[in-house]
Formats: sequence, structure tokens, C-alpha cells
Amino acid sequence: MTVVIVGAGIGGLVTALRLHHEGLDCEVYEQSEQIRELGVGLNALQAGFSYPQLSMHRGQLQGVLLRAVRERLGPDAVRTGHRLVGFEQDARGVRADFVGRLGEALDPVHGAVLVAADGIHSTVRSLLFPEEGPPCWNATWRDMPTLPTRCRPTSTIACRPPARWCSATAMAARKA
Ligand SMILES: Cc1cc2nc3c(=O)[nH]c(=O)nc-3n(C[C@H](O)[C@H](O)[C@H](O)COP(=O)(O)OP(=O)(O)OC[C@H]3O[C@@H](n4cnc5c(N)ncnc54)[C@H](O)[C@@H]3O)c2cc1C
Repeated sequence: MTVVIVGAGIGGLVTALRLHHEGLDCEVYEQSEQIRELGVGLNALQAGFSYPQLSMHRGQLQGVLLRAVRERLGPDAVRTGHRLVGFEQDARGVRADFVGRLGEALDPVHGAVLVAADGIHSTVRSLLFPEEGPPCWNATWRDMPTLPTRCRPTSTIACRPPARWCSATAMAARKA
């Protein structure tokens, strides 16, 4: 049984690692030609649990996960340059349809299950729920300055309402 995962973001890569750990075959299809370490900060807030708050650089986390997927599932487990444009499901499984960078049709992919990990503008979701419309969101302004070591916060500093929300968190050491 092959699981077809659409999207090589954090959700898709973590899903691939977990399913592989459980002994399931998976293939990950990503629309970008090249997966680069993009993004700024991710914060896993404490939210009442006994775990500490974790802050990390989104791109670096994705890079770690991508390398782990390629090491454990094989160098071809993540197929880039594949943008999902449709899928069909029947009693035997699912057929996923992809196009390449120039919109050219690529060979369809067959699997037992399709996992949609294609992010906030999910194509799969919009095909399943066409009447839903775009996601609701609030604007957040972010910046990632490089600070001298002596100025780096070691934990999150936050100002809360009634002032506007503002927080500063140490994310990652600068890459050489
Ligand atoms: C480039 C980028 C930078 C980000 N930076 C931040 C950040 O700094 N801070 C933050 O909090 N969140 C950031 N996010 C969002 C954050 O990564 C996600 O909200 C969160 O990690 C959930 O991950 P996800 O795997 O569900 O979605 P995402 O991380 O958004 O990954 C979805 C993946 O699916 C791919 N994809 C989308 N549509 C298709 C399709 N039709 N076919 C094939 N592949 C498809 C996308 O290219 C992407 O790689 C960023 C997302 C991206 C894509």
C-alpha cells in the first residue's frame, strides 16, 4: 500500500517519517522545483501543557525533516516539481494528477490513500469544499534581525493587550 502525500512542508514530511516508521510506503509530491529553507519563526506555545515553549526557524526545521526523509525513505522519496491539480478516488484507491512547472501534465500517480499536506491554500481542500472560500486570517508583521550575541533574547519577551501584541524570540544561530 502506497500513501501519496501532497506537500513537502513540515506536515507532509513529518507524516512521511511517521508512516515509514509504522512500515507504510509513502511518496511525497511537492510543487516547488527546489525545497529551500524558507520562512521565519515557528512557535509551539505552551498552551497549558507541561512542555516548555519551543521556538525554531521554520526553514531549518524543514531542512532537518527533509534530510531525514531522504535518508530513511530513499533519495527519491520526495518528488519536486509536481503540483497536484486533481484527484479521483474509487474502491481500489486514489489517482492523483500533477502538472510540472510549465503546466505540462505529468504521469498520474496511484496510491491507496492520498494525504493532503498542501498548506493553507490547499488545492485538495478547495476541490473537496469548493464553496468554502479563502481562509480567514489576521495580519502579523514579522522581521528577523541578526543581533549581536549579547543582545539575543534567550526566551520570548512579549507585550500583551491592551497594547498590541508584540514578541521577540531567539530563533536560530546565523548560518556561516
Ligand atoms: C515558504 C513558507 C514559509 C513559511 N514561513 C513561516 C514562518 O516563518 N512562520 C510560520 O509560523 N509559518 C510559516 N509558514 C507556514 C507553516 O510552515 C505552516 O503553516 C505550518 O508549518 C504547517 O505546515 P504544513 O505542512 O501544513 O504547510 P506548509 O508549510 O505551508 O507546506 C505546504 C507545502 O505544500 C506545497 N504545496 C502547496 N500546494 C501544492 C500542490 N497543489 N501540489 C504540491 N505541493 C503543494 C507547498 O509548496 C508547501 O511546500 C511558511 C510556509 C511556507 C510554504
